[in-house]
Amino acid sequence: MADMVVTRFAPSPTGYLHLGHAFAALTAFEAAKASAKSCDGRFVLRIEDIDRSRCRYEYEAAILDDLAWIGLSWEWPCLRQSERFEAYRAALASLNAQGLLYPCFCTRKDIAEEIARAVEAPHGPEGPHYPGTCRALSQEERARNIASGIPYAMRLDVTSAAARAGDLTFEEGGAGPNAERGTIKVEPNLFGDIVLARKDAPAAYHLAVVVDDAFQGVTLVTRGNDLFAATHVQRLLQALLGLPEPAYAHHRLILDEQGKKFSKRDSSVTLRALRERGATPEQTRKLIDF
Ligand code: GLU
Repeated sequence: MADMVVTRFAPSPTGYLHLGHAFAALTAFEAAKASAKSCDGRFVLRIEDIDRSRCRYEYEAAILDDLAWIGLSWEWPCLRQSERFEAYRAALASLNAQGLLYPCFCTRKDIAEEIARAVEAPHGPEGPHYPGTCRALSQEERARNIASGIPYAMRLDVTSAAARAGDLTFEEGGAGPNAERGTIKVEPNLFGDIVLARKDAPAAYHLAVVVDDAFQGVTLVTRGNDLFAATHVQRLLQALLGLPEPAYAHHRLILDEQGKKFSKRDSSVTLRALRERGATPEQTRKLIDF
C-alpha cells in the first residue's frame, strides 16, 4: 500500500468563502479522496485565526456550514490556530535557541521611513524587505526596550537561518505560477527577515503553518499559486525545526471577469450569496469545473 496522503484546507475566518476558496477546498478534498483508492487518504481542516482583530466567530461558523453545503466532510475536531499558541511558543524557543531570531520594535511607519531613506531596498513578492534596523541592536538595547514595555515582534535572521539550513529543495507536483514543477531549489531570502511572532501573538502566518502542517500530519499541501513563494520560506522553517517535508501542489487561481483574484470584499461570489440566489451545490461546483 502506498503512503497515506493527508491534505488540508486552511481558511482564515475574516470573511465568507468565495468561489476561489471553494476551488482550493475541493482541490484538497479531491486529492485526498483520489488517493484513498490506492492508499489511505485523509482531508483535514484548519481555521487560521491568529489575527484576532480580523477574525470573527460568525465567519468561522459560516465557513464550516458552506463547506458542508458544497459537499465536503473533514475530520473532527478541526484545528484552530488560536488554540495552538503553546506549540508556536515551543517552535519559537527552538529557533531562538539556535540564535536565529531577534526582537523588532519598529512600527510600520519606522519601516516605511527607513526604506525611503535607503539607497537600495531589496524587494520581494510582498514588497520591500524589512530593512534590518533592529537586527543591528545590541543585547543591552534590546533588553532596555523590552524592559520599558515597547511592543515587539520576533523576526527571523534569514541570512543566518539560510546558512544554518544549507541548500534545500521542495517537491512541486502542481505547477507554480511560472509553470515550475518537480524539484524546486529553495530561495530562502525571498521575503527577507520575516516576522515569525506578531506583536500581539506568539506566532505569525509562516510559523503557524509549518508547525500545524506537521502536527496535522499533512503530506501534500495543495493551495493557490499566490502562495507558491511562501513555500520557499516555509521549507526553510521546516528544516530549521526538524519537521517533516510535505509535497506541494499549487493550483491555478479562480479569477473574476476582469482577470483579478476574488477578494473577500466581492460579496456577489461568496458561497452564501450563491446559496441565497438559489444555486445548488452541483451548479456551484460546475462554475469552478468540479
Ligand atoms: N490561511 C491562508 C489563506 O486563507 C492559507 C494558508 C495556506 O494554505 O498555507 O490564504
